[in-house]
Amino acid sequence: MRDDNCIFCKIANGEIPSATLYEDEDFRVILDLGPASKGHALILPKEHAANLYELPDELAAKAMVVAKKVGSVLAKGLNCDGLNVVQNNGEAAGQTVFHFHIHLIPRFKGDEKQVKLTWEPGKLTDEVKEEVLKLFP
Ligand code: AMP
Ligand code: ZN
Repeated sequence: MRDDNCIFCKIANGEIPSATLYEDEDFRVILDLGPASKGHALILPKEHAANLYELPDELAAKAMVVAKKVGSVLAKGLNCDGLNVVQNNGEAAGQTVFHFHIHLIPRFKGDEKQVKLTWEPGKLTDEVKEEVLKLFP
């Protein structure tokens, strides 16, 4: 299903032009218009799903294969030093476009001032560990 009000549905299905790196039956991979780094790309399913929870299993599996394929070409071709594969769900997680997408972000040594994907490590307490483990009986 496509969502008429969704910009990524329009881009993924070719109704709005984009710098397309890769396309198959299920996905289009485009260059991000507000890139974190050179080659920052977005993997967009052609079918609308707001986030990872809504994405059908088959597309979720295929998306990772596309990430591997396109990520490998970017990494080799741009001679980058690393590659982050990032996927945000929900506003609190930084999602701004509510059509599932995976970011491929090539990383270059010394770019951490421009690309910020780190966090302050906390400490795993017994209480929290028990709470989360209980979710997976
Ligand atoms: P997120 O914050 O994970 O929802 O990521 C949304 C990404 O989409 C951001 O990196 C934006 O720069 C990018 N973006 C938004 N609109 C467009 C567009 N029309 N074409 C390409 N990238 C876009
Ligand atoms: Zn959509």
